[in-house]
Amino acid sequence: MVFKYYKSSGIIYWIDRISRKSQTAILSRTVGPAWINLNSVCPTTNQIWPAMEYTTVCDTMNVSRSCSYKNFIVNCCSIIIHMPDVRVLEPFATPRTKLGFLLDWRVTMKCNYDCSYCSGHDNKQSHPDKELCENMLAQALRYVDRVMKVKKKAMRSVTLNIYGGEALYHPDIEYLLEKSSELYDQYRDRWALIRMLTTNASSNEKRWANVLKHLEYVQFSYHAEGPGKLKENYLRNLSTTHKSGKRYGGIIMMYPKYWQESIYMSRFMQKKGYNIHPKLIDGDLGKYSEEQLLDLKEFWPQLHDDLIAKIKDGKVISKGRACCGNRLMCVNRDFKNPVKFVPQEGNNYTGYHCSANQFFLMADSHTQNFYTNKDCHVTMNGDRGPIATQETMDDYINDIERKLATDSNLFLKCVQETCTCGMCAPKARSRDDLIDVMRIYNSQT
Ligand code: SF4
Ligand code: SF4
Repeated sequence: MVFKYYKSSGIIYWIDRISRKSQTAILSRTVGPAWINLNSVCPTTNQIWPAMEYTTVCDTMNVSRSCSYKNFIVNCCSIIIHMPDVRVLEPFATPRTKLGFLLDWRVTMKCNYDCSYCSGHDNKQSHPDKELCENMLAQALRYVDRVMKVKKKAMRSVTLNIYGGEALYHPDIEYLLEKSSELYDQYRDRWALIRMLTTNASSNEKRWANVLKHLEYVQFSYHAEGPGKLKENYLRNLSTTHKSGKRYGGIIMMYPKYWQESIYMSRFMQKKGYNIHPKLIDGDLGKYSEEQLLDLKEFWPQLHDDLIAKIKDGKVISKGRACCGNRLMCVNRDFKNPVKFVPQEGNNYTGYHCSANQFFLMADSHTQNFYTNKDCHVTMNGDRGPIATQETMDDYINDIERKLATDSNLFLKCVQETCTCGMCAPKARSRDDLIDVMRIYNSQT
């Protein structure tokens, strides 16, 4: 057993023991134990803490010395925190980073591309009827409005993510976007809405111009595997959007099989000053050679040679998970030491009280169901599945409205072991702790 103390940000951490079996270094800190997984990647230097290259604590520390001790300690303890000791998890709330409501609206499963690495489309399905989509959006906005009633004024903001498959491939997408403007009109004075289209942007010029009128943000994705003509449309639509001053961002999926094109496009975006950046692919198709990873140093200077050596020809395995919106998170109300990653291993939220129902809704026009969100399928009844169908949603909204009118502390009781999308919604082991956190967001009833 080796004890070594390090002081950082006023908190004392010490290495308790290193386990070769689980390949972790167990740390202790003033608020409880934590562990570093020695295969994990340091977010500051992108170094991997080695699994088997240590013999003593000092060897382990040497590896990270280039991070500086402060970053090492802060990041180690920030990355992996022993889940049973997390009583409360919440986003690091500041006036600029407040947590708004995310409404996901899937309008179709079909896509005009057929990317090998994509599990989010199914071209054997037909497009949902436009009336059905419209009705589900109306219901979703009504649900959001009921939730907004209990929020403090400064917290009333909503992002509507419109996606597929490929949303633009839905033959009635222009009609649906026009309807989104009309349907939002009645709520305009009560809360702010940002409509964001997640898209391969492959539509023709006329459709694109029309679509832009009804959006506040575009999230572009470039897929090298797509048909040439459609990729030309993407470039034209991106250029138009960039010049128009509309807010946008995006990614180039760095598909190893289409490497030259992916790299060429990354350089092109950089040269043009577009807000589009390379992104590695997850899963089995996301295996990169050393040469390919070296190419990426051009865009990510922090991509260290050691890291390249570790991840070449294999998958980048992340043992921890960051919030999808890249938010900092606070554990046990420790606002002085917000963290970026929360571990997947040992991350069991079953039994936690969770406010995901007050921050998320997914309207899936393909299945005609509503869910808490695309990953969180926990319902108010304490099971997993849709929270309502298109037929039952009106009754569900009325019921939620009645309950919220007497008590704004209406939460889910988690029955999932892992939490992925939904992690940023405040949650706590005890209901009283969650009520305390929710004072930031809600006017209490
Ligand atoms: S463009 Fe997007 S939705 Fe379509 S197949 Fe490719 S990854 Fe999937
Ligand atoms: S899985 Fe859902 S209910 Fe459970 S903690 Fe995550 S967001 Fe909350």
